[in-house]
Amino acid sequence: MNILVKNESYSIGIDVGGSRVKAAIVAPDGTLIGQVIEKSRVVDPYPAARDQLISIVEGLISTSSTRPTSVGIGVAGLMDVSNRIVLAAPNCPGVVGVPLADDIEKLLGLPVEIENDANVMALGEGASGAARGSRHYVAVTLGTGVGGAIITDGKLFRGSTGGGSEIGHICIDPNGPRCGCGSNGCLEAFIGLKGISVWLRRNANHMKNLHLPRISEMAMEGDPDAIKLFEWVGTTLGVALAGVINLLNPDTIVVGGGTASAGPMLFDPLREEIARRAFKVYQTKLRIVPATLGNWAGVVGAGGLRRS
Ligand SMILES: [Zn+2]
Repeated sequence: MNILVKNESYSIGIDVGGSRVKAAIVAPDGTLIGQVIEKSRVVDPYPAARDQLISIVEGLISTSSTRPTSVGIGVAGLMDVSNRIVLAAPNCPGVVGVPLADDIEKLLGLPVEIENDANVMALGEGASGAARGSRHYVAVTLGTGVGGAIITDGKLFRGSTGGGSEIGHICIDPNGPRCGCGSNGCLEAFIGLKGISVWLRRNANHMKNLHLPRISEMAMEGDPDAIKLFEWVGTTLGVALAGVINLLNPDTIVVGGGTASAGPMLFDPLREEIARRAFKVYQTKLRIVPATLGNWAGVVGAGGLRRS
């Protein structure tokens, strides 16, 4: 099985998270039709999630004049790609270890593909977002954790067992703080939400209870501590991404997620750190750009999933 980034016909894209399910018909140019957001039923025992997704797909088909020819599902979890099964998903227990894709395929009579959510987000940005036209790019999502996906030669990189691309778990300090993965000093241990709150407690205690969107507003208004936070996040991310650039030689790096909403406050120090550290020859055509599809990137990318 392989995943193509190209989408040549109408399809249905679904992005399944722990709290919400988003879905839409995806046109060949990446345009979304009939967007749906529902409270997710992935915490309920199976087949609650299967029935919910089938009803969403049937609803989309019945209200549209287009004829979707496939369904793609992105799930926030670790995938067994060859068996099309979710191996682990702390926020979506109701879809772990069950034949979700096979069951929906049988019941709907449409081909169904399933893929990790960070990967479908990256595919979406490649299909019609910030990485459009690129065949070698890296996508990073800065949220509660730090997610990553790699597209190389137009295809999703997925290692020997369906994994890899865990940019958040590159070690940037062997003596750094403990990480959720069991190691310590990972990028995510520093600039995931937990790491950011540690930084705030140490360096700007008066902001420790503020949400990141408010802190990024403050940075844009010129608050020196808020600016310092995003400088530190950008520089820290740049240390890891310079290594990623030297390893993979991408032409584009897309950075999205809540923390990336700080815009230039984050991207300026990020670009500076990369310029200092990465091979100069790899930087001549390199673009470091914010994600453009926001919360719908996963739906666009899931719509482009195809078996080949
Ligand atoms: Zn880690």
